[in-house]
Amino acid sequence: MSDFDLTDPEPQSDAELVFEGALRPQSLGEFVGQTKVRGQLELLLRAAALQGRTADHILLAGPPGLGKTTLAMIVAHESQKPLRMSSGPAIQHAGDLAAVLSSLVPGEVLFIDEIHRMARSAEEMLYLAMEDFRIDIMVGKGQGATSVPLDLAPFTLVGATTRSGLLPNPLRDRFGFTAHLEFYDAPELEQVLQRAARMLNFPIDDNALAEIAGRCRGTPRIANRLLRRVRDYVLVHRADADMASVRAALNLYDVDELGLDRLDRAVMEILLTRFGGGPVGLNTLAVSVGEEAETVESVVEPFLVRIGLITRTPRGRMATPEAFAHFGVAYTQGSLLPDVL
Ligand code: ADP
Repeated sequence: MSDFDLTDPEPQSDAELVFEGALRPQSLGEFVGQTKVRGQLELLLRAAALQGRTADHILLAGPPGLGKTTLAMIVAHESQKPLRMSSGPAIQHAGDLAAVLSSLVPGEVLFIDEIHRMARSAEEMLYLAMEDFRIDIMVGKGQGATSVPLDLAPFTLVGATTRSGLLPNPLRDRFGFTAHLEFYDAPELEQVLQRAARMLNFPIDDNALAEIAGRCRGTPRIANRLLRRVRDYVLVHRADADMASVRAALNLYDVDELGLDRLDRAVMEILLTRFGGGPVGLNTLAVSVGEEAETVESVVEPFLVRIGLITRTPRGRMATPEAFAHFGVAYTQGSLLPDVL
């Protein structure tokens, strides 16, 4: 995705990471939405605290920008334990993981982002570590190699993934709790925005906030980013922080009323025009827009399905009549008929 795509759900710059850090909720009480997951996590953490043990390992699954890193930080904060941050791509060898695991202090929370991208050899080491707080370290090479057991301090692993389907079963089974984070609905996004506006000291109309909430792809990261652009607009144009400013700022950055980003639009346009609305396979769609199938499946498709522009059928992805209407393409979906009949 482009560096300047306002609706890219991934963080775009170091400055944004700093900004995000400042707005990140610190406790479960401050964390907006995901009510069910919040309740479940709260129970899990309280039970562990009452029994004086480390909390169960936690897997957080869902598209980028929905709060997985934030929740990992909250788990550490609420259990008053230090947090160690790592990521799947940084763990290329079992040795990388051994180095992290062997230096954990008792009770530490280990966050591994994009855990599905960790090296296979490290995954196997993690099984034993998660289950028994123990690893086997290979010493020496070839015939003379021996494995030396090493006890670890008890820890809580918080894994995050945008692709829980890619995790091998033995790994998935070792998490005591798995949370699937969902896109946020409009009232929840308005709460995220109200909180951010308060923290940024930026008074803004409620209906202007509602307009931003409707255009942020169900994603708090994008909500906060759009708010920042609106704040810039108001500052530069000495305008009121109202609906007109929101519309002007977001139009300037090409964020449409549904908040679709460039890649969402590319996928929809190809599906509607080149494939007549489908059905078409995910890989074909991904190749046509020059993107990895993984990104289309884990980032683009869940949102397009959620807002009703795409349906998944056994024969492939299909555009809905609403999609034809939104993109102003004449409805030509003869191929819908066999499913309807
Ligand atoms: P992920 O790890 O899933 O990509 P993050 O946890 O980094 O997402 O969240 C991105 C930003 O969105 C954070 O800076 C945080 O401020 C904000 N955010 C995410 N979830 C929430 C929430 N439930 N309430 C308030 N802000 C949130």
